[in-house]
Amino acid sequence: MPDASHPAAEFTHRFVTEVPPYRHLDEATLYICLEYATTVHLCACGCGLEVVNALSPTDWRLTFDGETVSLSPSINNSGLACASHYWIDHGQIFWCEVVPTARVEALRAADKRAKQRFYADEVDHRKANRSPAQDTRVSRLSRIWRRVRHK
Ligand SMILES: [Zn+2]
Repeated sequence: MPDASHPAAEFTHRFVTEVPPYRHLDEATLYICLEYATTVHLCACGCGLEVVNALSPTDWRLTFDGETVSLSPSINNSGLACASHYWIDHGQIFWCEVVPTARVEALRAADKRAKQRFYADEVDHRKANRSPAQDTRVSRLSRIWRRVRHK
């Protein structure tokens, strides 16, 4: 049984082609599904709740160094009962102190603005037909999102 008094200190990772059903998730394991640009894990505090993080330029970024994984930015589960907040860095869990609600709301608002800017840029790039590299990145991302939505 999950035990919130024994939080995980280390995380392993598994690359998967399908996101495993909740009941098949192991503790202290980050499941990475590149096909859907998503990671899933059980909350590192041990509460047993599932945490899903989308990978995108405006969500989370995954770093795999061949041995361990890191996720950035931090994972703030303020919406869960445990309100845990931590980083996964090189397979290690680093705990953050509890973030006051006002700060969480400010971060959410900033995130929303970042997304709006990102999509505004996307439209601009299409109109102006600038930087081919950037266009490739954007169209690849749009493809992924279309796939996720149609899942
Ligand atoms: Zn938790």
